[in-house]
Amino acid sequence: MPGRENSFLVFLAALLVPISSGAAVRQLSPGERVCLSAKLGELSASVVRSNQRDAFALMDPHSGRILWLENRKTLAGRSFQPGSIFKVITTYAARSGLVDPSETYTCPGGETTIGPPGAEVDCWLTRGHGPVNLSKALALSCNLYFARIGRRIGVTPLLRAAGEFGLGRVTGSDLGGEVSGSLPSWPPAGQAARMATGQADGLRVTPLQVLSAVAAVANGGVLYSPRVADPGQGPTPVRGELKDTAALRFIRDALEQVSIYGTGRTLRLYDLRLAGKTGTAAWGGVNWRTHAWYMGFAPDRRPLLSLVVFVHDGTGSKEAASLAKKIIVAAYQAMKACGVQVKKQ
Ligand SMILES: [Zn+2]
Repeated sequence: MPGRENSFLVFLAALLVPISSGAAVRQLSPGERVCLSAKLGELSASVVRSNQRDAFALMDPHSGRILWLENRKTLAGRSFQPGSIFKVITTYAARSGLVDPSETYTCPGGETTIGPPGAEVDCWLTRGHGPVNLSKALALSCNLYFARIGRRIGVTPLLRAAGEFGLGRVTGSDLGGEVSGSLPSWPPAGQAARMATGQADGLRVTPLQVLSAVAAVANGGVLYSPRVADPGQGPTPVRGELKDTAALRFIRDALEQVSIYGTGRTLRLYDLRLAGKTGTAAWGGVNWRTHAWYMGFAPDRRPLLSLVVFVHDGTGSKEAASLAKKIIVAAYQAMKACGVQVKKQ
């Protein structure tokens, strides 16, 4: 995969700031959701790019209420290869008893590939990631680690985990024109390495599915049907539940580690610390191009917001992360305007 996630790490380290450890951050009230939705609507012009093919959505992960969105047609009505954001789902499958998370693999980078001819996976970091365990491999997005895991555990647990996260079926949202995306229906065994890194043939997800999935990571496992109407109403219909809360906690912890592994320092810019994952998905056949993903939540310890970003013709570490930063800055401004505290209560 072509993602230059190392530059993303630098970006994210610059964005993140520590919140007080163990701070008790409450969930959004219905009134706060209404206020935030209105304020964010006012801020749209300063964030949204002129490229109408990009899409994003910001949701309260505890209610399934969407507070802000751009381009509902792409969010709900189009599906794409997930790329590296799928490593969160591979981690969930691996963490559920199939892989020892402390086991270390040394990523050599370079010309090393895993997988059969025609379905090889290489690592985007040419010099290699060196020794990585499951948590570090997710934080650093090491392709070879996950390809190796995929080859070992096979496609079946990956498909099962994808199903648990709600992929391959519509979310039941009120956005209209929703498509289901797809999971590989008859995946050949050789696709396991590519599946584990989100590159398998026939693996397609909508941004809305990704939003619902990352919200479930943030809220401890509840899979909601997102609703854009009436942000002040109560929780939206629950369409599933992820049972392995320990695996979800492991994923949240790993995504928080991005800032630590990135540069070893953080700049104190905002209280709304963002944790998440980039992805870069190939498309375009002969003329090789990429789409960019970002999915995440903020603040990282006790999330109030979950986020998906999809950028047509971009890379996850660059365009999608850049747009995610603008969105979270706008969200921070809106929270201040609405009197929503994101630090300790
Ligand atoms: Zn690697």
